[in-house]
Amino acid sequence: ENRSMRDMEISNLKVAVRVRPLNAQECLNPSVTNIIQVDENEVTVVAGTTADSSAGVSHSFQYDDAFWSVNSDDPHYASQEDVFRSIGIPLVDKAFEGYNACLFAYGQTGSGKSYSMTGIETDDNDFDPKSEAGIIPRFCKEVFRRINSLKKTTEVEVEVSYFEIYNEKIHDLLCVAQLESNGGANPSKRSALRVREHPVWGPYVVDLSTHPVDSYAALKNWLTVGNSQRATAATGMNDKSSRSHSIFNIVMNLSEIDEASEGVSKKIKHTKRSKISLVDLAGSERISHGSTTGDRVREGVSINKSLLTLGKVIAALADSKRGPSAFVPYRESVLTFLLRVSTVFFK
Ligand code: ADP
Repeated sequence: ENRSMRDMEISNLKVAVRVRPLNAQECLNPSVTNIIQVDENEVTVVAGTTADSSAGVSHSFQYDDAFWSVNSDDPHYASQEDVFRSIGIPLVDKAFEGYNACLFAYGQTGSGKSYSMTGIETDDNDFDPKSEAGIIPRFCKEVFRRINSLKKTTEVEVEVSYFEIYNEKIHDLLCVAQLESNGGANPSKRSALRVREHPVWGPYVVDLSTHPVDSYAALKNWLTVGNSQRATAATGMNDKSSRSHSIFNIVMNLSEIDEASEGVSKKIKHTKRSKISLVDLAGSERISHGSTTGDRVREGVSINKSLLTLGKVIAALADSKRGPSAFVPYRESVLTFLLRVSTVFFK
């Protein structure tokens, strides 16, 4: 890595926060109150509404974006559409410019990660403004909307892959062979995939299935397959979905064709390749001391390892005071090792 690469990595790091509304149960519980205030990009955690309030201190944090979902009448209210416009569209722009990028949803179980990333599935492919579809389907839809409006001299190939990391092991969520043999229905039968490092392209998942798609409808089918695989694997497994990281990848190759050439003799002037990873992370809550037996311990340790390493990697990338050779501990977890490629720019 040289200095300019590092500068680029830093300048492209953005953090947004989203506040979810109280759920029905929380609304019924009089001891649950909202202690979050959002003002533009500033979020304040208000301290002490109880008797000892004088001892409490409020804390304010600045983000690149802050989304408020609590009251739809509030002028700051952010719908799924608003969130996508703010943080999804810039990623689509990057993808068409040939950059790699990553979007992570981080937070405790129940804080709204899956709602923001996947949202509520809809049959309406045009996503009316009230639709609760999340960033992933909206991102995919926007990619194909743009592809369809490109000039004829641009050829685009799109392929997707979808996998999860559980206990530092990788499982393909779109593996057709496993689906056909019905192994997908039984999580213990699903084999774990290995990671290798290519000398030029970097770390990759060996034998991960990738699927070319030529329309949003085709892509949506794969998303549905992956989401249901994820749900099936999670059933009865210590709430596995909150303990695994799911990574949806969309890879694009954009080629400029020489207008004068035709058919078999067509000439490609240049190709841009981009990879966008949309990641729904495991819940950030700490494992409770009461349930630390057997598998739970291992799960807790490895999830913390991936999240901990992700925190360290982001901190290292964000720390502009470090020199060009500062150590970024990508290799310490499967998640960061694999997503390292998303911080590198291919031209
Ligand atoms: P996580 O993936 O972090 O465990 P979920 O996405 O499953 O959390 O969200 C928990 C619940 O809260 C779900 O029922 C979801 O529909 C609801 N929810 C989360 N965020 C919002 C939001 N911004 N607006 C409305 N409902 C939300």
